[in-house]
Amino acid sequence: MISLARPIIGAEEIAAVIRVLRSGNLTQGIVVQQLEKRFMELCGTSHAVATNSGTSALHTAIYAAGILPGDEVITTPFTFIATANAVIMSGAQPVFVDIDPTTFNIDASKIEQVVTKRTKAILAVNLFGQPAEYAAIMAIARQYNLIVIEDAAQSINAQYQGKMSGNLAHIGCFSLYATKNIMCGEGGMITTNNAVFAQRARMFRNHGQDEYKRYLYKDLGYNYRLTDILAALGIAQLKRLKKITKKRQSVASYYTTALKDIPGLILPLRLPDRTHVYHQYTLRVTDSFPLSRKKLQEYLFQKGIQSAIYYPQVLSEFTHLGQKSSKKRLSEAYRAADECLSLPIHPFLTLSHIHSISSALTNISI
Ligand SMILES: *Cc1c(COP(=O)(O)O)cnc(C)c1O
Repeated sequence: MISLARPIIGAEEIAAVIRVLRSGNLTQGIVVQQLEKRFMELCGTSHAVATNSGTSALHTAIYAAGILPGDEVITTPFTFIATANAVIMSGAQPVFVDIDPTTFNIDASKIEQVVTKRTKAILAVNLFGQPAEYAAIMAIARQYNLIVIEDAAQSINAQYQGKMSGNLAHIGCFSLYATKNIMCGEGGMITTNNAVFAQRARMFRNHGQDEYKRYLYKDLGYNYRLTDILAALGIAQLKRLKKITKKRQSVASYYTTALKDIPGLILPLRLPDRTHVYHQYTLRVTDSFPLSRKKLQEYLFQKGIQSAIYYPQVLSEFTHLGQKSSKKRLSEAYRAADECLSLPIHPFLTLSHIHSISSALTNISI
């Protein structure tokens, strides 16, 4: 079976974890600080704050940015649930805007229509590894005095107009979950150039405790600390980041060449002013393809090829998010949820895997 995702866990990762275990310092300590420093270097930000998941990074970032209960946060309905859940955790209200069908990212031209007096922030997601439309998003934010948060869970090492993901908005959030481009099992990271946001984030991840004064609790906080054990894994992974990114991009370009003439399949589009790090290689299976998406998945499975639907549901369908918007207003998100299909993309894919996946798809249409 060709699996959808598979992390690299090499001798370096194992040795790094063992070093921490032998040191006896297992909780958040110097290794977490080292991982934060590496993220600052990678993204070019002046601060980085580690957390224990991408979800806690988002929750922390929303708090750090001063978003309060009752505030509205504009975001995309076509993303992982954690993006919108983090807004709810903060007591704020997600407000969904439809996506741009060519990139699956939030349609920046539709953001202004939903700005109200209560809008405090825009939470953009770089879905599947390609940055959203930050020039337009930041311009709207300046005009309406909004904070912009970048959900960079899927876009580590991507660039937009020469700038690194994590440094495209006021605050960025990464996930280091096991299936992300680099991982430490579970983990997250916040990046920002704003010293106040960074300080508030460090407090929030540690029970609201003053950064320098123990047992002085300035606000409600959580235990969102990362451990040195996992940070060591993350540091080892970061050393592989360039290679992993290149490999994913080269698999994507093989797919794009091999699949480009299949009628009824729409391939992912990379825009010229940014890079795509292909956390997912996501096709659209349209009505003019000979098989339904479900039948195609079954067919691929029989050939030993895993595939997955990211994401099968538009987030406005989930009642706890309180945004049961009309299907019509989010029609592109609904169409994407009906058509999308992600193919295996990870560093262990060989040319022969890619070839068998491509020919499986090609053989259907002839
Ligand atoms: C993975 C992911 C998250 C959540 O990260 P966890 O580390 O799983 O908590 C948030 N947003 C997006 C877009 C993701 O892909």
